Amino acid sequence: MILLDGKATAAEIRAEIREEVDGLEAKYGRRPGLAVVLVGEDPASQVYVRNKERACEDCGIRSIPHRLETAGQLELEGLIHELNRDVTVDGILVQLPLPEGLDSQKILDLIDPDKDVDGFHPVNVGKMSLGLPGFKPCTPAGVINLLKRYDLDPACKKAVVIGRSNIVGKPLAMMLSQSGPCANATVTLCHSRTQNLAEVCREADFLFAAIGRPNFVTADMVKEGAVVVDVGINRTDEGLAGDCDFNALKDKVHAITPVPGGVGPMTIAQLMVNTLQAFKLHVGA
Ligand code: NAD
Repeated sequence: MILLDGKATAAEIRAEIREEVDGLEAKYGRRPGLAVVLVGEDPASQVYVRNKERACEDCGIRSIPHRLETAGQLELEGLIHELNRDVTVDGILVQLPLPEGLDSQKILDLIDPDKDVDGFHPVNVGKMSLGLPGFKPCTPAGVINLLKRYDLDPACKKAVVIGRSNIVGKPLAMMLSQSGPCANATVTLCHSRTQNLAEVCREADFLFAAIGRPNFVTADMVKEGAVVVDVGINRTDEGLAGDCDFNALKDKVHAITPVPGGVGPMTIAQLMVNTLQAFKLHVGA
């Protein structure tokens, strides 16, 4: 069984970015800048933001924090306009979920698509669906990057994605089904209304779980020798758990991601990749 080590792979990616950033700074006289906007006191969001700031530090990317205890819709919209205009800001990330009363979609729609390093702006979603260059959402792009690093190619294979969220399942299914490297799979996208889910999953050569239910995917749902990617992060009384029952699956599969240490670190590494991409776009590198 191959353990798909997202933590180690993400560290490799961060080191590569650091080297490239140092070279780019020498040439262009500045480092990439990532503005991170956090509103409210949600503990999980605070952890995510801290991890993103640490990753920036590791990569030589300037992190520009905007921590607001509270903010009204207009104030937040004003901040986004300001960050859009700031030429030293290459990427803008608004940590979700925003507190109740704020219109997240409206805020995300205001971000300059060329600074949309989360890949949530409708322009970038549209570009992705057309197979055009743009920013891809960090979690599914991080998953594809992890498979690439382990030479696990889903081309011509059956892939099943469980979960159809806009940030994980849906874009992942789209990326896997497109032509290009580490893609070209025959994809089935499953969700809460899917019938005979276990049967569908058992067909999968590549199985991706993005559901948000601890240990939901059990051994009887997985084909012998499959590649399993567990996107889930669930807080349980016993600590963090994925969407897959790792212990039950590990002797049956060809490769599997652990939780934690699988997709999570790859998501943050991909944010760094996207920020570097935005910087290059802005300086014309
Ligand atoms: P979501 O709640 O937006 O979507 C969950 C999806 O699961 C839905 O589309 C729903 O149809 C499907 N689903 C729910 N119950 C189901 C069932 N019984 N059978 C089949 N499908 C079912 O969640 P999300 O934002 O996509 O996140 C999913 C999981 O991934 C969560 O645990 C989340 O914490 C985690 N996550 C991890 C990362 C990371 O970096 N590793 C990033 C984002 C999300």
